[in-house]
Amino acid sequence: MTNASPVLILIGAPAAGKGTLSAPFIADGFMSISTGDMLREEVKKRSPLGLEAAAIMQNGGLVSDNIIIGMVRERMQTTPATGYIFDGFPRTVPQAIALDALLAERGLNNVHVLRLDVDDANLISRVEKRYNDAIAAGQTPRADDNPETFAKRLAAYRDYSAKVSAYYGDRLMAIDGNNGPEQTLKAAQRVTGISFPPTSPQGQANSRIMPII
Ligand code: AMP
Repeated sequence: MTNASPVLILIGAPAAGKGTLSAPFIADGFMSISTGDMLREEVKKRSPLGLEAAAIMQNGGLVSDNIIIGMVRERMQTTPATGYIFDGFPRTVPQAIALDALLAERGLNNVHVLRLDVDDANLISRVEKRYNDAIAAGQTPRADDNPETFAKRLAAYRDYSAKVSAYYGDRLMAIDGNNGPEQTLKAAQRVTGISFPPTSPQGQANSRIMPII
């Protein structure tokens, strides 16, 4: 059985704007699967998984594929949704292969892989702003938003995104994420054909018309 619910897979560097781009889709009923958020929840709960992940996250490294894939599988079992938006997953080729299998098991075949491309200088100024905004709001900034860990996360991203991009090949569409949130959202909607409120799956534009914009 096929399921035409749209699936968006967002690939992008830390602070590229994946969370910001996700927000209107989530508001529209998409289920968010942000592995970073799920891990931060575990860290907050001080669960065994959270305790194991915390040191890795603090170092800007990658949590093991088994843990991540297990978390995503469980999440997809428990929560039905009109659409799915993956943020920060997959980060490795084994994760991408596992995601393809999870989607195929559920007959989800309306899949859009978007990569948000943002220049390093913009990423650095965005993460500084995120850090300073959190302090100004009296919140604790993310433990991994400090300059040292951020540099490691960025280096990790450059490495894994090249491999994951190669895995997706021409299934991947790159969009320019250097501009403001509205322009990025418009670009994402243009390449996926997803409008708000969502059009019927049949009404969606062919997402392959514009490989790079
Ligand atoms: P994020 O919020 O997506 O930037 O993720 C924060 C941190 O969580 C990353 O730097 C990794 O340590 C870990 N993490 C999140 N998603 C994954 C993933 N798909 N695979 C491995 N580690 C992940």
